[in-house]
Amino acid sequence: MGRHFDLIVIGAGSGGVRAGRLASSYGAKVAVVEEYRLGGTCVIRGCVPKKLFVYASRFPEQFEVSKNFGWSMEEPTFDWQTLRDNKDKEIQRLEGIYGNILDNAGVTVFRDRAELTSGTSVKLQKDGEELTADRILIATGGTPFVPNIPGAELGITSNEAFHLDELPEKILIVGGGYIAVEFAGIFAGLGVKTTLAYRGPQILRGFDEDVRDMVAEQMQARGIEILTNTDLSALEKSDNGINVTFDNDQSAEFGEVMFATGRSPNTKGLGLEYTDIEVGAREEIIVDEQSRTSCKTVFAVGDVTDRAALTPVAIREGAAFAETFYNDNPTFVHHDLIPTAVFSEPEIGTIGMTETQAGNRYHKVNVYKATFRPMMNTLGDKAEKEMYKLITDADTDKVLGVHVVGHAAGEIIQMAGIAVTMGATKADFDRTIAVHPTAAEELVTMK
Ligand code: FAD
Ligand code: NDP
Repeated sequence: MGRHFDLIVIGAGSGGVRAGRLASSYGAKVAVVEEYRLGGTCVIRGCVPKKLFVYASRFPEQFEVSKNFGWSMEEPTFDWQTLRDNKDKEIQRLEGIYGNILDNAGVTVFRDRAELTSGTSVKLQKDGEELTADRILIATGGTPFVPNIPGAELGITSNEAFHLDELPEKILIVGGGYIAVEFAGIFAGLGVKTTLAYRGPQILRGFDEDVRDMVAEQMQARGIEILTNTDLSALEKSDNGINVTFDNDQSAEFGEVMFATGRSPNTKGLGLEYTDIEVGAREEIIVDEQSRTSCKTVFAVGDVTDRAALTPVAIREGAAFAETFYNDNPTFVHHDLIPTAVFSEPEIGTIGMTETQAGNRYHKVNVYKATFRPMMNTLGDKAEKEMYKLITDADTDKVLGVHVVGHAAGEIIQMAGIAVTMGATKADFDRTIAVHPTAAEELVTMK
């Protein structure tokens, strides 16, 4: 037997780092085991590098619009390798910070893969040491899911998209969720001819219908081809890339095919069979509202539990776990009202119910909607519009949902999210004095 800890955390991502650091600060002897890089998906191959790419992809529009504001410049050029390598340097810097955070908190970090051997022990796969602990926290995140299509191995996922040697001329993105629409905007903005194939009738299932329609329309106006009700039947290597056959028997050639078809909880090979931990249909670890699994000594937070696959949620769950079990402060995370942004082009910010969800739940709802051309686009001579939408309960006036499509929608929804979380009514929004001239003033002036 090897060393003993109060807590072993498997996975140094958003949830694991927060839980481990906090538990240690409350006096627990903590080990964190990470098989890849400190920081996890969000820092290494998710939110952070993605947002840096989003910034890069938005410059061409600024160059274009600037002309009507009096600017002139030589035709700008773009160098993918510069962006990719600068991004890698930044990620390396952040990874170092995560290492320091854990070190400074007194956490023992093992750079290894951990597999459970019981509810109170894990085996380090490279080192061979078997660590034991009073509690184990599984925070192993998720991994890209790729459908079982002949030739699917020729495609990439978001993991590889961050490291391409060069940008393709043409890319096919498969899927219609967060990652698909964000990367469609990134690639198109960087000059790649981009096609998105989605199996359903409209992209972004689960978002408000007006939001889905508006984003799809504007992505198309920006030159992204969207094929709805379209599945892939096969991929084959061709002279210049990958030949894709669709389920309508049509085919086309692309330089790259990127699957953005969801993510699976990372439970494969984790040794769950040596415990009595229950998993669900997607192999996600089933937990209660305080992240307890069905095994008394094992807990789980973040994407591996398939509650809401977002970094701030994993962080909250990790923090709540540490508060509850190491600071005698029972803490719950509520998953019913989560503000979120999609960094597509145009950007989406949303909190609460869609119009359809509210209509199904409440006996009468009021819908307020403003669609307008932002000031920047008037002088910039661009047709693109923005949308602000509020959904309220007609009986109580309470705001049930806020949906924003347009510039800085993520920033705006973070603030609107405070009001909605506090239970604001439409009257509360209305009595807030507008900030002028802004787009977000629509939130407090809608009739
Ligand atoms: P992770 O951060 O995935 O960490 C899990 C860690 O466990 C990994 O480092 C992994 O290597 C390690 N691990 C797994 N198995 C083992 C093992 N057996 N032994 C040792 N280590 C192991 N969320 C947002 O809120 N905003 C965004 O803009 C956003 N953008 C995203 C963009 C992309 C392309 C992707 C893929 C995701 C994005 N997300 C975003 C989601 C976000 O990254 C995740 O919700 C978040 O990282 C989940 O944190 P976690 O702690 O559950 O797991
Ligand atoms: P999503 O669940 O958002 O989207 C997956 C997409 O793939 C859906 O359109 C789904 O279709 C489609 N799909 C699933 N299975 C298949 C299949 N077998 N064949 C064809 N299409 C399929 O997952 P993502 O991978 O985009 O992202 C994972 C999660 O990470 C997100 O849900 C989000 O929680 C998080 N994330 C957050 C971001 C942010 O906060 N900005 C950014 C990126 C990721 P259908 O709708 O029909 O099921």
